[in-house]
Amino acid sequence: MTQQVNTLFTNALVLTMDENFNQYFPGAVAVKGDSIVAVGNEEEIKKEYSAQETIDCNGKILMPGLINAHTHVPMTLLRGLADDLRLDVWLMGYMMPVEREFVSPDFVRLGTMLACAEQIRSGITTFNDMYYYEEHVAEATAIVGMRAVCGQTVMKFPAPDAASYEDSLQMAREFIQRWKDHPLIVPAVSPHAPYTCTAEILRATADLAKEFDVPLHTHLAETAFEVENVRNEHGIPVIPYVKKQGLLEAKVIAAHCVHIDTGEMRSLLHAHAGVAHNPSSNLKLASGFAPVVKMLETGLNVGIGTDGPASNNDLDMFEEVRLAAFIAKASTNDPTSLPASWALLMATRLGAQALHIGHLTGSLEPGKRADLILVDISPVHNSPSFKRSADNAYAQVVYASKSTDVSDVMVNGKWLMRAHKLLTLNEDELLAQAAVIAKKIDTFLIEREQSVLSKLIALGGSLEQESFEVQVKVKIAETDPIVQALQRPGIEVIRKRHYREHDVYFFFDDPSQGRLRYREDDFLDDGKGTVTNVRARLTLIGQKREGKFEDQVLLSRSRYIAPAAQSLRFYREYFKPKSEITIEKDRLRWLITYNNTEFFVNLDQMAEPKLGYYLEIKTRTWSRRDAERKAQFASELLAVLGASGGEKVTEDYIDIVHSAAARRATHVSEV
Ligand SMILES: [Zn+2]
Repeated sequence: MTQQVNTLFTNALVLTMDENFNQYFPGAVAVKGDSIVAVGNEEEIKKEYSAQETIDCNGKILMPGLINAHTHVPMTLLRGLADDLRLDVWLMGYMMPVEREFVSPDFVRLGTMLACAEQIRSGITTFNDMYYYEEHVAEATAIVGMRAVCGQTVMKFPAPDAASYEDSLQMAREFIQRWKDHPLIVPAVSPHAPYTCTAEILRATADLAKEFDVPLHTHLAETAFEVENVRNEHGIPVIPYVKKQGLLEAKVIAAHCVHIDTGEMRSLLHAHAGVAHNPSSNLKLASGFAPVVKMLETGLNVGIGTDGPASNNDLDMFEEVRLAAFIAKASTNDPTSLPASWALLMATRLGAQALHIGHLTGSLEPGKRADLILVDISPVHNSPSFKRSADNAYAQVVYASKSTDVSDVMVNGKWLMRAHKLLTLNEDELLAQAAVIAKKIDTFLIEREQSVLSKLIALGGSLEQESFEVQVKVKIAETDPIVQALQRPGIEVIRKRHYREHDVYFFFDDPSQGRLRYREDDFLDDGKGTVTNVRARLTLIGQKREGKFEDQVLLSRSRYIAPAAQSLRFYREYFKPKSEITIEKDRLRWLITYNNTEFFVNLDQMAEPKLGYYLEIKTRTWSRRDAERKAQFASELLAVLGASGGEKVTEDYIDIVHSAAARRATHVSEV
């Protein structure tokens, strides 16, 4: 009497990817309902089971579906949008601004469906995602019929789906509550990364993950820059830092881990954390080479991920597995490193274990869900075949198979693709919808890229609007008389500061764009001469001057000021100026009141280029009438300080530098 099952796969080369790397040829797998009930030699399985449908696999490889251990599936809609950039410019300059503008539940659903189509074709049956509106990723995935760990993003910046981190945390909580017992979806919480989250967010997300016993999916130690920043700020590397915030108490899935040492690997192992290695993404963004072999030797569950399709740019796991093996060999200078069997193990059972769902999927074993694929190894690029060793089959899959060789995909006992035809998705429809969105994004970016101001606004953060500036500037020979004069009656000093100013001016092809100034102020402690604080700001200075007052006071110009949260290098790569000029000055600055009006009095020594001393009196206001009134006071103040006889300069420092350079050039040509 045979046992009745739904599907019996026969005549296959079965790669179980189980603990013993068991293979069967000709092998068979019996599937009943959503699960695998038997795996073994065809002859034995056939004796025990009869099925509604028996499939002759024709010598194809039958193996567990691949596990994409880290991705951002809706980003299929941003594929090819911005490439060949550094991670921060790519993320903060392009991805996040576009996402803030376009990402919606509809966007996420469409992007997910597209990604599912691509992933099924690539033999992926499970993916681990992190994005916004993750509930809609989960919904679309469940409709398609794939398995996924879906992580709702939480971070310190306003996100497309949440104005604050508290909002996204609440979304994550409700999402987890609703989806906790779904047969295909494992809900999770995703604090984006240590550099986009506060310590408080890391703690709160870890608490949430623990409360519901769900995975916590995050990016850790992706770049050397990230590690350096965490070290500078907290005095410890990334893994100890997140451990301190309680993150490792949750079921962590850590994407990347490119820059971690053996001590950090042991911390991750101790915490039963999974790691997702992303070969293409790390190569494309030049993040470095993850110490994969060392992590595996430590005993960590390391899976393989494609990362998002905007940083890869595809979701082809066959390519990732092959690259993982190649990179491990090249980076250790050892061709025996990460053999094909282990590379494939990472993409299957180890990957599932890294996602904390090893009990459900990742290998062909009785009791596990029926997540499996058929791979045709007969095409020209993969022939002939050898059976001399068990390793031959792994080599065929890892080194020569292509995603297009995947012919059939089953998830949870249900067919998603048969004979290369997708059964739960309409690709043509999805592609047509994607083209419409791509066109809108294109238009948005084309417009944005035309103006320095709109690029500045796109970076987010607070932006101070246009204002009127009153400015009087005089070239002086010495500073002492001014310092003395500041004690005269009528002047009240509120505070005094001393700092070094580094200004870098960006110039653009079209002068009407204005010029962008990156200013870094190093505040100095005059007692010790040490730097006590550093402040960086971006100012967009309009080209147009509103006018002059009494021929010596510069009245106004448009200015947009934003705090500079990124590095000078970031802004250089993001704004792509045509040219730049650096100015350094040593500044003594007093905030005073004169005539019931606050003024800044600056005594500047131009250090680079060396152009002597200047006295500057400044104040800002938001109305033109008030500006004129204050300009009058500024002129008077100049007289009180005994400097009204000096050479008036109605220019900014950058103009002074320009004119000085022009004078020098003229002088040279005259000689
Ligand atoms: Zn990622």
